[in-house]
Amino acid sequence: MPSPHCPNCKKPVAPRKENPAFPFCSARCRTLDLGRWLGEEYRMPVRQAEEEEDERPGHAPGRDDFGET
Ligand SMILES: [Zn+2]
Repeated sequence: MPSPHCPNCKKPVAPRKENPAFPFCSARCRTLDLGRWLGEEYRMPVRQAEEEEDERPGHAPGRDDFGET
């Protein structure tokens, strides 16, 4: 079985028995990956809220100029 690679930085990972951060190469990468997952979870509702605001009509006061010409 080939040695696994860190999902975060793609470096070779030490075997589980000598690597408490397995399957990551280090505790730092494990924390970074976990933080990325949490970050995406927190970011999703924010992104949806932004899209809803974009779809809201009547927020462009400059449109009247286009209608006259
Ligand atoms: Zn890593």
